[in-house]
Amino acid sequence: MKIGTLNLTSLTKKEKKDLQILALFTSVYCRDHHVGERKSLSRLPQQLVVLERYVCCPDCLDFLEYAIERRLQCPVEEDPNCKHCQIHCYRSGHREKVREIMRYSGKTLIKRGRLDLLWHYFF
Ligand SMILES: [Zn+2]
Repeated sequence: MKIGTLNLTSLTKKEKKDLQILALFTSVYCRDHHVGERKSLSRLPQQLVVLERYVCCPDCLDFLEYAIERRLQCPVEEDPNCKHCQIHCYRSGHREKVREIMRYSGKTLIKRGRLDLLWHYFF
């Protein structure tokens, strides 16, 4: 767990929102694809306890944790947009997974009429 060691004093509202979307999408995807016990991220720093409401299987938790770290360490300060980013910080494998998760959960949420959750769908 490295999230707890990241410096979050400068966490912006937008970053927090991005992380919530990430956690929401990962948990939607996981619920429909994986079986077994699901847990939320634990030992989160105060600024991120809001993410504890989203649960995933251990594999997806690993992925989510990685994705959160990447997002928080993103060097593109102004309006980062992973789709058009030249840096491609996700290691291969994870990049495919993040795409799959975003595509699947995006569609699922649209079908359920939860477009309000997608206003910031940027992957
Ligand atoms: Zn899963």
